[in-house]
Amino acid sequence: MALRSGAEYLKALRDGREVYLDGRKISDVTTEPALARVAHTFARMYDMVIENQADWTFRDEQGQVRSLNWFEPRTREDIVRRRSFTETIARRTGGLFGRQQDYVPLFHLGMLDIKREFSRGDARFERNIENYWRRAREHDLMLAHSFIDAQAHPAVPLEKTVVPRIVARKSEGIVVRGAKTVATFACHADEILVGAFPRPAMTEDYVMYFSIPVATPGLRVVARTVHGQGSAFDHPAGQFGDENDCILIFDDVLVPWERVFSLGEPSFCATVFPRISEWAHWSILARLAVKAEVLTGLYSLIPEMLGRAQQPQSQEALGEMIRYLTSIRAFIHAAEDQGHVTPEGHFMPNPIYITTGRAYSVENYRRIIGYLHDVASQALIIIPSEAAFDNPDIGAALEKMFESPSASARERARVVRLAWDMVCDSYGGRQTLFELFNALPWTAQRAQLMASFDVKPYQQLAAATAGLGSIPEAAAAVAEAAGRKGRDYQAVGEAYAAKSAGKIVAR
Ligand SMILES: Cc1cc2nc3c(=O)[nH]c(=O)nc-3n(C[C@H](O)[C@H](O)[C@H](O)COP(=O)(O)OP(=O)(O)OC[C@H]3O[C@@H](n4cnc5c(N)ncnc54)[C@H](O)[C@@H]3O)c2cc1C
Repeated sequence: MALRSGAEYLKALRDGREVYLDGRKISDVTTEPALARVAHTFARMYDMVIENQADWTFRDEQGQVRSLNWFEPRTREDIVRRRSFTETIARRTGGLFGRQQDYVPLFHLGMLDIKREFSRGDARFERNIENYWRRAREHDLMLAHSFIDAQAHPAVPLEKTVVPRIVARKSEGIVVRGAKTVATFACHADEILVGAFPRPAMTEDYVMYFSIPVATPGLRVVARTVHGQGSAFDHPAGQFGDENDCILIFDDVLVPWERVFSLGEPSFCATVFPRISEWAHWSILARLAVKAEVLTGLYSLIPEMLGRAQQPQSQEALGEMIRYLTSIRAFIHAAEDQGHVTPEGHFMPNPIYITTGRAYSVENYRRIIGYLHDVASQALIIIPSEAAFDNPDIGAALEKMFESPSASARERARVVRLAWDMVCDSYGGRQTLFELFNALPWTAQRAQLMASFDVKPYQQLAAATAGLGSIPEAAAAVAEAAGRKGRDYQAVGEAYAAKSAGKIVAR
């Protein structure tokens, strides 16, 4: 199959999928005003690949030209190329889309990389993982994923919750009943990767990993209210659309066997998530760096337009923003420089730097966006709309009131409105929530880091420095530990499982 065009992607979304928005059943997500923009934004991304094939494609084992969405990095150069692709897509939308189309394929890459362990020795599932990769690559599918479950009160027994479970095993496949959150992008995806997240009292009926088309009978997608609607002038971020965080309802959905990747082992479920998410989490950093680039520009442009660039609060905000951007970039480069080749031959950026970078970027996100209020103050809220500027009675006065030596009133309004969209209004509020939680809160990331960090050599060094042992020996142990490339996934998973089990008691 040739490279997929934007028109082909849009056509594929008209497949009879059951999508609901604010209580209405939506017959076509590509024409429904609140949902169409996202579809068209990502249709343009498909066309971008076709228009720039030299940069954004590669040849697979059969010599077919494929999008870099499905590129398997084998070397450091490959990983840099793959990151440039993520950054290029992100720059077309200001980094506002956490689920751009190159993201979920990286979870599939994670599964492919440990396909034997992931399939837990079941040859059918191992084959399914490989076949799915090839088929999704051939059709360049747009994918969403849903791992996390709804926030059930811990006092409610698992069997009384809606956490999806297998209610029947048939010759054609498994039958799944229940509901999941948060499946961002699901209403605009071709298919959804569904996975289980560890929780106390899980039995084998709750542990399943599979991928199905959105238009599967019995699968209902409930989209949340859309934010940032309006003209491109009034909502510059909204012009790209608002990627939707969806609920999935499984009304006895038949998942064919060939779409199942793993089944039935709660302890496996507790350890596997970090193992398949390293590439995806590395790409979150790259996308977030692009968003930080845009914010850096705004933190410089807005004070300049207001004539406040030299004021201490503007200087502090810009300085902190630059520090944030540069730190994220440093983590990305460190992860790539210290990467390693996995036993399956894939180049993996160093997980320690990925997790530390993500914990840093999320922990500081709220602080960084908070500076916008200092930078802009009243300018953030007193911004005329396009209709106000166009009004013959008040327009001229508003143009005069908001012009500055470096920008016209309308230019200033557009720039400030972008900042408002990205940080302050309901679109910006959702952006913040997304960055804080979309792939584990930073406290969970810190816990993962601690679980995988071997502190023994550092204890040895501290003790030796206190005169309790040999400093050269301790220094050698620290140097050896610092040079390690991987992570102890078993320890990470066990720490996570213990933490979730602890949570139920604590609440
Ligand atoms: C805007 C946005 C977009 C997101 N997009 C995605 C996405 O595309 N795909 C995806 O998979 N996730 C997505 N997430 C989910 C994200 O991974 C989680 O929100 C995050 O991990 C933090 O979890 P939580 O605080 O929301 O839920 P928590 O309160 O941590 O709950 C997580 C799960 O653990 C269970 N649990 C918690 N405590 C207990 C207990 N004591 N006993 C039993 N069970 C317990 C909950 O019931 C729930 O199933 C998104 C989140 C946001 C906010």
